[in-house]
Amino acid sequence: MVKKLLELVFATSNEHKLREVQHVLGERIKLMPLKSIGINEDIPENYHTLQENALQKARYIYEKTGKNCFADDTGLEVQALNWEPGVFSARYAGDEKNPKENIRKLLNNLRDVENRCARFRTVIALILDGHEYLFEGIVWGRIIDHERGSDGFGYDPIFVPDGFDQTFAEMPLSVKNSISHRGMAVSKLNQFLRNLC
Ligand code: IMP
Repeated sequence: MVKKLLELVFATSNEHKLREVQHVLGERIKLMPLKSIGINEDIPENYHTLQENALQKARYIYEKTGKNCFADDTGLEVQALNWEPGVFSARYAGDEKNPKENIRKLLNNLRDVENRCARFRTVIALILDGHEYLFEGIVWGRIIDHERGSDGFGYDPIFVPDGFDQTFAEMPLSVKNSISHRGMAVSKLNQFLRNLC
């Protein structure tokens, strides 16, 4: 039986993310970046939940191009901060989206707070022939009180996943990917697509 190649637009302009996800999905799925379909503008993310934002981005592409597509949204959710910064993770300390300032603000808000429990959560919204599907990945851990490690990005230097001693910024990327929120959500998406093609 000849298997069909499935083309999917991935709502990201981050080349690194695109390559990482393409690697997991394998050669039967061909991912297309936004610029390859002529979308160069920032896609709106106006909502207050990861799910709504991911859906908004995917619907924007589908309505504009009619192409099968998916979008993701991720946030760091800290229990003692009422699950903030959540959807505001990228711009927690301001619109400049400065990761160092975001970390500084978070550590300040957690000063003298005993409960360090936190989780990263990713939601992927897929639109396939007009039908919508959601996939979620979560990794639980804790926020330490100073930065450790120089790999990774965002809040990686202050997040230690449960069952590990290293922060995300100290561990090899392959280990992070195998346990991470995004890794888990992409793997659920992969499982779903494998049953189709
Ligand atoms: P995005 O939805 O993937 O763009 O993620 C939004 C924000 O969440 C990023 O700008 C980072 O601040 C944070 N973030 C997402 N994924 C990670 C991660 O794997 N490690 C650390 N921070 C992350």
